[in-house]
Amino acid sequence: MRRFRRGVLAGALFSLLVGAFAAGEPSAPQRWLAPAPRLADGRFVNPVGPIGHGPLGVRLPFMLRRIRASFDLRPGAPRIDRTDGAFFRGPGESPRVTWIGHATVLVEMDGVRFLTDPIWSQTASPLSFAGPPRLAPPGLALDALPPIDFVVVSHNHYDHLDLSSLTALAERDPLTWFIVPLANGELLRDAGITRVIELDWTGTTRIGDVVVHCLPVQHWSKRTLLDDDRALWSSWAVTGPTRRFYFGGDTGYFEGFREIGESLGPFDLAALPIGAYAPREMMAASHMNPEEAWQAALDVRAAAVLGVHFGTFDLSDEASDEPPRRFRERAREGGREGDAWVFSIGESRRF
Ligand code: ZN
Ligand code: ZN
Repeated sequence: MRRFRRGVLAGALFSLLVGAFAAGEPSAPQRWLAPAPRLADGRFVNPVGPIGHGPLGVRLPFMLRRIRASFDLRPGAPRIDRTDGAFFRGPGESPRVTWIGHATVLVEMDGVRFLTDPIWSQTASPLSFAGPPRLAPPGLALDALPPIDFVVVSHNHYDHLDLSSLTALAERDPLTWFIVPLANGELLRDAGITRVIELDWTGTTRIGDVVVHCLPVQHWSKRTLLDDDRALWSSWAVTGPTRRFYFGGDTGYFEGFREIGESLGPFDLAALPIGAYAPREMMAASHMNPEEAWQAALDVRAAAVLGVHFGTFDLSDEASDEPPRRFRERAREGGREGDAWVFSIGESRRF
């Protein structure tokens, strides 16, 4: 228990540093669906300019609340429906999507299998013993995965780019490709991963019968004390002969969703983040609330949308069970409750 508390404290301090170093100069707005803009010093920037993370007067009490919450783990984590993965080795039910937890989704479609932002670690932080603890185990053991053709990573925050999971996947299957936004490749190559593809926004690569599209989101990046926005952030589309899939990564609500929908939609399925949005003064620019996530699903023209990025790591002020409730409620108001998918961790569904 003591180790756990120390870990939470270190995680909170790290998060505070993360917020403290995020700043920069504005740049002229531009269309989102274009190569990512950069500042003169090489840092990437959203087309609307650098995004804020709230005043210190909001961030400090937030950190104290996170520490307090860690002493008394909050209820409301998703149901867990852990699978042994045996059915992946059966005759196949493709196209199929499986929620492993957080933003980790296993997709099978058009002859390929791929993972989004794989994280199997116990903490979402640079230290194995510190940082936001995992509230729910992964829905499937990493060793139980079927062969994976490729992995897409949305950005370098620790709850999305989990180096130990990526190296384990590369060691397990030397044929797996790792597709990352610009300037994230070096981190993987330094860890010994060789099959790395780096793409700019609007860049594409073909794997088997599908095309993988690197697309914008409104977010930011940071992994160490001084590397703010040195590596790009993105969302991903995977389009094949029979199915089209969109993965939103981590993002505030932004105009680019509409451009993505017009250019590459409609999608059969989107996986969009619906959690880590409170307090809004800190999170609004970089994390959607559930109502915005539903609007994003409409913008990209998704027939069905799986809510992810909640209930797995306790990252923010909202209760763990609030994102799926509000997400379904908004879909119900629009007469489309059946299209707002909320899974148990480990659950699969055809799409
Ligand atoms: Zn992030
Ligand atoms: Zn995140």
